[in-house]
Amino acid sequence: MKKEALLEKCDGPWHLKCMQKTTKEPMDTSTQFCPNQACSARGQIGQGNIRVHDRKRQRYRCRSCGHTFSYRRGTMLEGLRKPTELIVVVISLLTYGCPIQAIVHAFGLDERTVASWRDRAGYHCKLVHQTRVSQAVLDLVHVQADEIRVKGRRMTAWMGLAMMVSTRLWLAGVVSLTRDTGLADRLLAQVRRWCQAVRPLLVCTDGWAAYPGSIRRAFREKVKRTVGRGRSALVAWPEVLIATVIKHRKHRRVVEITRRMTQGTIERAQELLTQSKGGSVLNTAFIERLNATFRERLATLTRRCRHAAHRLEALETGMYLIGCVYNFCMVHDELSSSKHAGSACTPAMAAKLTDRVWSVTDVLTFRVPPEPWVEPKQRGRPPKEPTTVRKCSSARPPRLRPLLRLRKGALRAFTS
Ligand SMILES: [Zn+2]
Repeated sequence: MKKEALLEKCDGPWHLKCMQKTTKEPMDTSTQFCPNQACSARGQIGQGNIRVHDRKRQRYRCRSCGHTFSYRRGTMLEGLRKPTELIVVVISLLTYGCPIQAIVHAFGLDERTVASWRDRAGYHCKLVHQTRVSQAVLDLVHVQADEIRVKGRRMTAWMGLAMMVSTRLWLAGVVSLTRDTGLADRLLAQVRRWCQAVRPLLVCTDGWAAYPGSIRRAFREKVKRTVGRGRSALVAWPEVLIATVIKHRKHRRVVEITRRMTQGTIERAQELLTQSKGGSVLNTAFIERLNATFRERLATLTRRCRHAAHRLEALETGMYLIGCVYNFCMVHDELSSSKHAGSACTPAMAAKLTDRVWSVTDVLTFRVPPEPWVEPKQRGRPPKEPTTVRKCSSARPPRLRPLLRLRKGALRAFTS
């Protein structure tokens, strides 16, 4: 009987029913922070400055600045009118490599709507990635970098990717129309940003000649050698080892692999390989596996497909969406095995960026806090002390007309 009643209710298409559904989330002021950039209490949680402003419209108010804001502010869902459930389903499908056209066909949405959701989710994931990874300073030990050739519509693009081997964490990604030094420089600069300074590091790459120079440029520190004015010298880290692995192919089959050290000794590299559990010989197997994951999950990266990317921007947002969901939501088989964690583990958990497996909803509704407010520096001459205004107890109205005035060359009193 119950089933029949449910079926009667759901007579329309599922997505239309889903669109009509309005789910109210419980309002909790203890987890909220003020997003106002001009507020001195911005980004602070648990300070008691947030109050519920409107339960019906689900808005909060900051007592410090008086501004009100929606519960969706700062999330991927901000400003969207469609129900959260539908958006999460569509984004989940996109992260599993479902082409946009299939979603358009299944849900009756506009193609531009789905593309804009993917772009929004990508921008949001970029912020989530930067916020969470920057909170932990990682001792990377072993990094692998590689690039993928992407065939778009009337363009060929390159996507550079880098990962930390011991935790399988996707670290950085860059999209470019050209495969030049700029691509390698930007990729390694991102890796450097998340890395603990002056630590032993092994970087394994393929035979692209741009990598060794970019690695040397990225991993160096400013050292002041002269007294007084003058530029600091840039000194390379003492223990950065660069390994190059070149695969020789014949008829699309690998016939020979050359492994060599471009910088550093093989003995030290073997120690770092053992420490990071990154294989017994120099390799790029881990980044190649990650490349395969990206190709599998990002529809526009699929070879010989009918839905290639039109824009470079779409590739970048797609990359961040896949990368962030891979880091935080995908349980990694190898990391979860008894050799590593022994229970369900994601790359972000292995890198100690979080302590649980996130859902796609968690990623999309993660609120990126603004930078904490810093009191502005006083510049220039200090202000004069404010002059004290004397207050008269018997407040008399100010005199509007002078006591004396000049009339026809003679001074006369008003009162006369
Ligand atoms: Zn505020």
